[in-house]
Amino acid sequence: MADVIVVGGGIIGMTAAVRLRERGADVTLWSPDGPLDTVSAVAAAVWYPTGITFEPRVLGWAAGAYREFRRQAHDGVPGVQVRETRNLERDGTTAEPWWAAAAGRVRYRPLGPPWTREVRFEAPAVDMSVYLPWLREQFERLGGRVVRRRVDRLEEALAEAPVIVNATGLAAGSLCGDPDVYPVRGQIVLVANTGVFASVRDLGRPSTYVHPRTRDVVLGGTFEENSWNTTPDPATRTAILERCLALVPELAGAPVLGEKVGLRPARRGGPRVEVEKLSGGTVVHAYGHGGAGMTLSWGCADEVADLAL
Ligand SMILES: Cc1cc2nc3c(=O)[nH]c(=O)nc-3n(C[C@H](O)[C@H](O)[C@H](O)COP(=O)(O)OP(=O)(O)OC[C@H]3O[C@@H](n4cnc5c(N)ncnc54)[C@H](O)[C@@H]3O)c2cc1C
Repeated sequence: MADVIVVGGGIIGMTAAVRLRERGADVTLWSPDGPLDTVSAVAAAVWYPTGITFEPRVLGWAAGAYREFRRQAHDGVPGVQVRETRNLERDGTTAEPWWAAAAGRVRYRPLGPPWTREVRFEAPAVDMSVYLPWLREQFERLGGRVVRRRVDRLEEALAEAPVIVNATGLAAGSLCGDPDVYPVRGQIVLVANTGVFASVRDLGRPSTYVHPRTRDVVLGGTFEENSWNTTPDPATRTAILERCLALVPELAGAPVLGEKVGLRPARRGGPRVEVEKLSGGTVVHAYGHGGAGMTLSWGCADEVADLAL
């Protein structure tokens, strides 16, 4: 019998599984989907807490993940880089953003209309198509086991381990009857990287972002609350391309490589990371990270390991 079963193999489940195994627990991870079939694989995966409001715990998770991704980039972990990025704000605020304390050196510059300020900082950026398979290999190399398995009830996992981690993302809403969980649809377009190096995010509504990776550039985005539609919409694709080209004209002529849609696992009140004692054992919930699962991942994984062991 495993000490801990982690249910869910996206970025939240996988980072928690690695941390638990590093601390010596016997860990099995259950997921019906391979790493590249999760919402995590759709993420632009640039460190920034999109749609998440301040809470001391959340700031701690963001800081923990920032430090860990920086270390991994320095150590040459596949798919992890640190890039300078710019946020173009439109709301006239002059206050320091709440997440700045987690990001190290943040610089500000006033801008003319339609923007009001540029916020420049170094952000970890992860190519999930490379990183998630690496993470899974890392977990297995540490002695963890991965099983393809879907649960209809969390009790199925509790029947096989005294402690389970519920990292099922959007599915957590129905699995634990949480009415605060809802989808936020995001569509992105991938184009070939023909020499774009600047990462930029225009914080209009919806926000427009251009995030170069090694082989391609991620263009976005949309933020459609309560939409369950996972089919790419051609009109949305055209609008994303137009908005991104206006922001970064160097993208002109870059061949389109593909497009993706993902449903961010959002939760009113913020992510749920807490222990629930059930008659069959202990559940550590870790879901509801919305548009910031990568941004909070490793910091959150440390807390999940503390709660589980
Ligand atoms: C377009 C887009 C862009 C994004 N960009 C960023 C970004 O730049 N930075 C950032 O930090 N975040 C970003 N995100 C958000 C990020 O993708 C999510 O926060 C993150 O993927 C959530 O991870 P998760 O592990 O909780 O969920 P998921 O990746 O959805 O994983 C859930 C896991 O649970 C499993 N599961 C589901 N149901 C069951 C079941 N019944 N039984 C067993 N297992 C089950 C699934 O198979 C999967 O393995 C973006 C999201 C989208 C859609």
